[in-house]
Amino acid sequence: MKVNLVLSMRLAQALAGLVAFNVSGNLHIEGAGHVDDSRTIWPIVTSTPPGGRNVVRFCFTTLEAKAELEHDFLQAIDNWMDALGGPASSRTGHNLVFKEVRTPEGEDTVCCSEWKLPPAQNPCTWNAEVENDVLAVYMNPSGKANSATIGYVSDSDALLNNFPPQRHFVNLKPLNSNINVLWEWVHELGHVLGLLHEHGRIDRDNHVIFRCRNLLDFQSCFAAAKKDRDEQDTGDTDAEIEKKLCEQWTFANRYGFSARSFMKGTGSQPHVDPASWGAYDRDSIMHYSSLISSYKPEFGGRSAD
Ligand SMILES: [Zn+2]
Repeated sequence: MKVNLVLSMRLAQALAGLVAFNVSGNLHIEGAGHVDDSRTIWPIVTSTPPGGRNVVRFCFTTLEAKAELEHDFLQAIDNWMDALGGPASSRTGHNLVFKEVRTPEGEDTVCCSEWKLPPAQNPCTWNAEVENDVLAVYMNPSGKANSATIGYVSDSDALLNNFPPQRHFVNLKPLNSNINVLWEWVHELGHVLGLLHEHGRIDRDNHVIFRCRNLLDFQSCFAAAKKDRDEQDTGDTDAEIEKKLCEQWTFANRYGFSARSFMKGTGSQPHVDPASWGAYDRDSIMHYSSLISSYKPEFGGRSAD
């Protein structure tokens, strides 16, 4: 992972190819993962000249979030644009535009007409004047990891799966002038565009070593899983439990284990030909560094990344 915010050239080229003028298909180029196949590229907005653009329309949830996040968010967008060779044009060969939504009169607006304080489960009452597929930019003050939805959910899939209005979101911790972690925001925007983790590719074991035991929460999750095994008398050995925790998403999810973010794809997108992924890219902005979630950074830093 390049902390200097230069996206890997391969990723940038791949993305440029996929957001080119006559775009079709989806953006799931970074290996299979636990995402819904209905999530695809952001659609062409034909009202945007010339000939339409793939527009990621966004709004900040509240004026407070806008004040706190806007400057750095625009910088994260600039990083994508730089990696793509500049703004959308025939010269740069890509069609991607980020655009903040406004009122019909051109005034500033926000995603939420009302914002409830915790413990409200959904603090945002969606602004009826904002289309419900617009990307909601949330401020994440909780100290939890940043997160984002992956790709675009079409209207029909949203209806089918009963997605809430804020069906596309990115949840960002304020940088508080710590520009060194802007790459995290750039990474989350990669998810918004539809990219998955490079280290989730099914061929990743040929390129990196994943040391599951080095994860910060391994010991506590392992202990909890062993306790369940003893109570339920499943007959699993310790080694079998460890393997399930580290390799099976649903099993790890039972314990909230962070290994979920490091797992190889399970073929949820069998139509994507791995040959189209190109060379494995350890420097991709979509590749975790060795230090993430490791209890012993010096171990992780040695060879696995
Ligand atoms: Zn990620």
